Amino acid sequence: MKKSFRIIKFKKNKPVLQVKSVSKSFDGRPILKKINLDLFPGEIVGLIGPNGSGKSTLYGAIIGQYKIDNGSIFLNQKEITSEPIHIRAKLGIAYLSQYRSVFNMTVFDNLLGICQITIKEKEKQRLMVEKLLTEFNLQHLRNINANSLSGGEVRRLQIARTLINNPKIILLDEPMAALDPIIVQDIQKFILKLQSYGCGIIITDHQVQNLFEIVDRAYVIGEQTIIASGRPKDILKSTKARELYFGSFEN
Ligand code: ADP
Ligand code: MG
Repeated sequence: MKKSFRIIKFKKNKPVLQVKSVSKSFDGRPILKKINLDLFPGEIVGLIGPNGSGKSTLYGAIIGQYKIDNGSIFLNQKEITSEPIHIRAKLGIAYLSQYRSVFNMTVFDNLLGICQITIKEKEKQRLMVEKLLTEFNLQHLRNINANSLSGGEVRRLQIARTLINNPKIILLDEPMAALDPIIVQDIQKFILKLQSYGCGIIITDHQVQNLFEIVDRAYVIGEQTIIASGRPKDILKSTKARELYFGSFEN
């Protein structure tokens, strides 16, 4: 999957998300130390780090699942550090868990259920569901129980679902993990579709290659801090990142 060239000049805009010097520990054990991260509207940013390096914890801090120890978080220049999880969702933060998180009901009802919470008019709810079923190639699966979907299909459903709340940013936690290469390409295509809605997107993965094919920039987490950031080709030049993480990537 090759990403076509990009014409958006992200940095002309203000960041849609700013993570400023965020620290988080669990039971006195530091997991994240003074993490800084910016995300611009329409940008896809990768978050790379070995298992257990704190990627999901950083997402938890951004969505409001975890209270942070220090630092601050801004969405569209408004501080949200103390806002509860449901307010952050309302303000436009969407999140796709790294786990298979769908309801035990049909694909159609999985989408309709979320629409019923966020969209008032019945007709508009149905229109949104039909639009998402079509755009994410789920029409033929609409009456199937979501628990019977394949790994790639359930990812498409989860990705489609993130769009319902009209999000400003979408956090995808390992959306390409444990999928066959051909399915990874399919998911990459749908992630790029999310970007076409103008959302800022952060993606984690430990398959660096899959991630670098679709991101504009990336951050590498190691030893509780960001040890490298920038465009993929700049990150590959970073000695620190290579030592920690990319040793086998150049082969
Ligand atoms: P990643 O997503 O990069 O694999 P995580 O953010 O899930 O890493 O985990 C980072 C570290 O924090 C791990 O050592 C994990 O065991 C620990 N951790 C994550 N969540 C909790 C929690 N709720 N309570 C205590 N420790 C946690
Ligand atoms: Mg994780």
